Amino acid sequence: TSFDSFSLDSRLMQAIGKLNYSTPTPVQTAVIPPALEGKDILARAKTGSGKTAAYLLPILHRILVAKEPGNGSGTNTTTGLILVPTRELADQVYKVIDIYTELCGKQIRAVNIARNISDSIQQSLLLDRPDIVISTPSRAAIHFNTETLELSPLKYLVIDEADLILSYGHENDMQIIAGGLPKGVQTFLMSATLTDDVEQLKELFCRHAFVYKP
Ligand code: AMP
Repeated sequence: TSFDSFSLDSRLMQAIGKLNYSTPTPVQTAVIPPALEGKDILARAKTGSGKTAAYLLPILHRILVAKEPGNGSGTNTTTGLILVPTRELADQVYKVIDIYTELCGKQIRAVNIARNISDSIQQSLLLDRPDIVISTPSRAAIHFNTETLELSPLKYLVIDEADLILSYGHENDMQIIAGGLPKGVQTFLMSATLTDDVEQLKELFCRHAFVYKP
């Protein structure tokens, strides 16, 4: 498989070229085609496997398609929420989005509210309604409860390092977030290990997911 076979937006393809990726990694080969079709994804994938691009490329592609003239997508709606266990991972994901969207002008705006910033700055970043929000579950749940973060317009939800999210005791926050999601949100559940707890998240978020379990 080559990246060409995915028919990704040309700006994303240019970014892939700049990064010198020659071929997709196994998780990317398995996950990108069903993800582009809109399927939920559960993938067993460790750091280093290329898991970040496996979910980001389909999501960025679908956001760009939705923004094409005539496809009726407003500019000021948060449609993607990426949940991560740690501030460090949030920073990494934010940087990767920045690289992929460099050639997309201001078409895609992402914010990282897991950073060490005040509540009021988090609020103003969220109220600006960026396309993508990166957060820890606790901050997302807090801002959902105070109605600063709307979950009902979401189209894409990522739970990255799901096993770590649960080991940090975020079950309650995940329940709160699950309760606010609209029907039909496309969920990506990425986890290094598929424990019983992760299976529970699958039941909660993406029961009929395409499963990649190498
Ligand atoms: P990740 O597993 O998402 O943390 O990615 C691990 C590293 O692999 C990152 O430095 C990526 O830039 C890199 N990477 C992701 N996909 C590819 C690819 N298809 N070819 C080469 N490197 C890649």
